[in-house]
Amino acid sequence: MEIQAQLLPQTKAPNNFPRNPAYVDVLSITPQKGKVEVVVRFPSGAVHTAELPGFAESLAERLPSILATRCHSGSDGLFAAELPHTETGHVLEHAILAHLERQGLRCRAVTEWNWRREPWGTFHIALFGKEVGLAEALKALSPAVAVVETAIAQSLTQLSAFGRFDTTTGISRLQMQPGRLNGGEDPEQG
Ligand SMILES: [Zn+2]
Repeated sequence: MEIQAQLLPQTKAPNNFPRNPAYVDVLSITPQKGKVEVVVRFPSGAVHTAELPGFAESLAERLPSILATRCHSGSDGLFAAELPHTETGHVLEHAILAHLERQGLRCRAVTEWNWRREPWGTFHIALFGKEVGLAEALKALSPAVAVVETAIAQSLTQLSAFGRFDTTTGISRLQMQPGRLNGGEDPEQG
C-alpha cells in the first residue's frame, strides 16, 4: 500500500487536548508527505511577545531548552535572541521543537502568517522531518501549547491588573505584515 493513502487529509485537534482555546486554539493538524502542518489561532489577540510583559521570562523558566533551539531569524542562530520580540506563533513553533528534541527528534520548521487573507492571530506551523509524523507532532504539540498558554495567561493577568488589556479587542497594536520564519535543523543536512 502506498504510504500516502494512509495519511489523513485533515486531522482535527483531539478532544482530550488539555486546552484553554481562549489563548491558543489548535484548528488542525495535517500530516502530509514530508511534513506535518499545524494551524493555530491566538484569539485573545496575544500575538506578539513584545506586548506581553513577563511572557519571555515565564516561558524560559518553564521550558529552558527553548532558548537553545535553532532559529534562522536570530542574529546568533538561537531562539533566545528572538523570544522577547517575536510572534507568539513563532514561539509555539520553537516550543514544539524543544519538545521534539526531548523525544530525540530534530526537524526543520517554518511559521507563516498572513492576516490579510486569514483571521487575525492565525499561524501555520510546518514541521519538516523524516522522523516527525502525526504521532510525534501531537506528542510535542500538547505540552508546547500548554506552556505557551500558561505564559500568555500569566502575562494577560498582569496586564489586566494594570487595566491595559481589553479582552474584547485584543491587545496587539502592532500592524504585522505577512511573515515567514524558519527554524530548527534538519539532521539530513548535517
Ligand atoms: Zn525561529
